[in-house]
Amino acid sequence: MTADDPNNVAPAVANLETIVSLSKRRGFVFPSSEIYGGINAVWDYGPLGVELKNNVKRAWWRAMVQERDEIVGLDAGILMHPQVWLTSGHVASFSDPLVECATDHRRFRLDELPGTEELSATDLRDPSIVQRLGLRCPVDGGPLSPPRRFNLMFKTYMGPVEEDAAIVYLRPETAQGSYVNFKNVQQSTRKKLPFGIAQVGKSFRNEISPGNFVFRMREFEQMEMQYFVRPEEAARTFEAWLPRRWDWYTRYGVTPERLRFREHAPDELAHYAKKAVDIEYRFPFGWKELEGIHNRADFDLSNHQAASGENLEYFDPATAEHFIPWIVETAGGPDRAAFTFLIDSYREEEVRGEKRVVLALHPALAPYKVAVLPLLKKRPEIVDMCHRILADLKRDMMAVYDDTAAIGKLYRRQDEIGTPWCVTVDVESLEDGAVTVRDRDSMTQERIAAEGVRRAILDRLAAVQG
Ligand code: ATP
Repeated sequence: MTADDPNNVAPAVANLETIVSLSKRRGFVFPSSEIYGGINAVWDYGPLGVELKNNVKRAWWRAMVQERDEIVGLDAGILMHPQVWLTSGHVASFSDPLVECATDHRRFRLDELPGTEELSATDLRDPSIVQRLGLRCPVDGGPLSPPRRFNLMFKTYMGPVEEDAAIVYLRPETAQGSYVNFKNVQQSTRKKLPFGIAQVGKSFRNEISPGNFVFRMREFEQMEMQYFVRPEEAARTFEAWLPRRWDWYTRYGVTPERLRFREHAPDELAHYAKKAVDIEYRFPFGWKELEGIHNRADFDLSNHQAASGENLEYFDPATAEHFIPWIVETAGGPDRAAFTFLIDSYREEEVRGEKRVVLALHPALAPYKVAVLPLLKKRPEIVDMCHRILADLKRDMMAVYDDTAAIGKLYRRQDEIGTPWCVTVDVESLEDGAVTVRDRDSMTQERIAAEGVRRAILDRLAAVQG
């Protein structure tokens, strides 16, 4: 890499720990079951994290469903008929290469071991790869086993009897729910091609080496959209979705220099894919997938048609043809997206000789849109006025009151959680009915009438939302 290589960009935050500790301290993300020592690769979203993640999902739904005429939503079950996962190829091949250390019995995903960064998918399938490269356990240096395929699906039993016939899987992706409902959605909405089905929901993968905070979890959420097109339209549609999905991240504030496209090599393509391009983000631990865009051809509907015996062809009234539509998929997730927005918005600044930490989150994503703060909490009239303004704001948005410190500290606390605006009530407010609105990023202050606060904040939100 050369200095002017676009891949050479620095991460927004050098050390992941900065974000992990902010998340814990301020209530974005907690380790799951912490009082019992935690459970690996499951994280709980705290009071601020749930707001941020809900806002991310809302922003995605807005761009993918609300703003588009041809995409509709769906919320399919997490548990599905087990045949779905046989047909989809997940039972046979939804697996990662696993190696095990002979001395400490730790297990690793082969392609995440140091020294495997440049390996091709063909290399990763080579049974002699560990020996050939002389790979050792990164923890204790012990010898590693040859790689074996490890299926990532969680199994459980449905009904009161624990027998093989009752095995069901926790879905590892939301996409299959959209495929098996293709006919239901098409017929109930009378959509013509091209049209899409969007879903947001939990998925589960028994990842071999989870980690990097919420980047790779065993329980997580996905935001996936399946777009059904005429076969000859698939390649063009695929290319059209690449900039649209890129623009969604930059629209909500991600620095474009920290994004890149990466096309999958032919031997890396998943069993269903004709072409795949990832949008990657420069995380503190390297360039990693944020979202994948896939041309899945007719793989899914053809296989479900063959296995179920149900006719899944589409009838095109314009040409009087029957055919299986092709699918272009955009597959991302709110956990990785929220994580990216947190990292990318993190700033440390110096203001009048003091350190200021700011999350410069897009206002649509910020957990609280506004904080209402009293300059003097000992004056009941000031506190009453704050609560009246707060109640008015809460009709439309998440707003919060805080009087537990002096005003300078209250501002800094709101900066650190990304609240775009603070409203301060002071002694003068009691006389002239005006309050101060302070902007998080510019720190400028404006005096406006208290009755106009809700309207003013709504206008500012609308202006940045576009
Ligand atoms: P990776 O290569 O990182 O394992 P993948 O290619 O398996 O990801 P997809 O199957 O394309 O991922 O899943 C679509 C999206 O779902 C990912 O881009 C990511 O945003 C999200 N996702 C997948 N696995 C996880 C996970 N273990 N934890 C959090 N999010 C995930």
